[in-house]
Amino acid sequence: MGEFELIQRYFHRPTAHAALGIGDDCALLQPAEGMQLAISSDMLVEGRHFVSTVDPARLGHKALAVNLSDLAACGARPLAFTLALSLPQADEAWLSGFARGLLALADLHGCELVGGDTTRGPLNICITVFGEVPRGQALLRSGARPGDDLWVSGTLGDARLALEAFRGTVSLPAEAFAAARLRLETPTPRVALGLALRGIASSAIDISDGLLGDLGHILDASGVGADLLTTAAAGTMADRLGADSAEGSADAERRLACVLSGGDDYELAFTAPAARRHEVLAAGTASGTRLTRIGHIDGARGLRLRNAHGRLVEHRLASFDHFA
Ligand code: ADP
Ligand code: MG
Repeated sequence: MGEFELIQRYFHRPTAHAALGIGDDCALLQPAEGMQLAISSDMLVEGRHFVSTVDPARLGHKALAVNLSDLAACGARPLAFTLALSLPQADEAWLSGFARGLLALADLHGCELVGGDTTRGPLNICITVFGEVPRGQALLRSGARPGDDLWVSGTLGDARLALEAFRGTVSLPAEAFAAARLRLETPTPRVALGLALRGIASSAIDISDGLLGDLGHILDASGVGADLLTTAAAGTMADRLGADSAEGSADAERRLACVLSGGDDYELAFTAPAARRHEVLAAGTASGTRLTRIGHIDGARGLRLRNAHGRLVEHRLASFDHFA
C-alpha cells in the first residue's frame, strides 16, 4: 500500500464545513464573520507519551482528544484538524483501528480532518486543530483576578495512577485499574464546558502536566497567587487504592500526589469571580460536567496549599517537564 492509497483508504472523507479538504496542496477554511481562529498542535511520540502495545483506536482517540482539550481551554468551537503521521510500516490492522478511534471522536465534535502529511519513520503523531471563537472572547491564562474562585472539572489523578500501576509502583484491584486506565488512554476533552464558560470564566487552562504546574501558568500569566484546598482537590479523585483514606496516611498522600502533579488529566482548571458561582455551576450542568471549587485567587504571589484545618501544607510536587 502506497502513501496515497493509505491516505485515501483511512483518512480521506468528504468535508461538510471546510471549503476544501484533503487532496490539494492546502486545505481551505472559511472563518465566519466576527470569529477568530484558535490553533493548537500536540505531538504524541511512542515511548514518550504512549507504549507500542496501546490499543490503536484508543491512541487515535487520545491524539485528537489532547488537541481538542486545548480548544476547550480557550472556549473555542472545533472546526478542523490536520494529521502529520510518521509510521514504521503501513500496518492495516493498526491503521484501521487508529482511524476508527480518531474519526469517532472527530465526528462527535464535528471536527473535520482536512489534511496532513504521511511519512515513514518512528511512530509519531502530530495533530493541529483549528477552532473558532468570537473576537475577544477566548478564555486566556492571563485573566485571573484576586477574589476569583478556583475551579476544576471532572476528576484528577486517575491517569497518573494508571501509569504507576503499569510501572508496578502501586497495585490496584482489576476494576479500579480498568477505570483508571480508561482515563489515561481515552481522556474526555471538555469542549462543551469551555464553550459554556465563555463570558463567565476569567481564565482557563487544560491540565496536561499536572494541576500545580498548570495552575502555576495561570498565576504567572495573571500576576496573582492562590490558596488551594488540598482536601477539595483530592476529593475529585475516586478512592481506587483501598481503605486507608485518613489524611496523612500513605495512601492519602499518594492520592494527593496523583491529583496535584499527576498530569495527563485533560480537565480544565479555571477561575471566575465569586459573584458568578451560580453561572459557573449552571455551565457545569449545561455541559454535563462535574465541577469542584478548590480554592481562590488572591493578590499575594505564589501558590499556597491548605489542608482541611486551614494549615499550610508543604509541597515539593512539581509538574511534569519533558526536559527537567
Ligand atoms: P504534499 O506533497 O504537498 O506535502 P502530500 O502528497 O503529502 O502533499 O499529501 C496529499 C494530500 O493528502 C494533501 O492534501 C495532504 O494534506 C493530505 N494528507 C497527507 N497525509 C495525510 C494524513 N495523514 N491525514 C490526512 N491528510 C493527509
Ligand atoms: Mg507531503
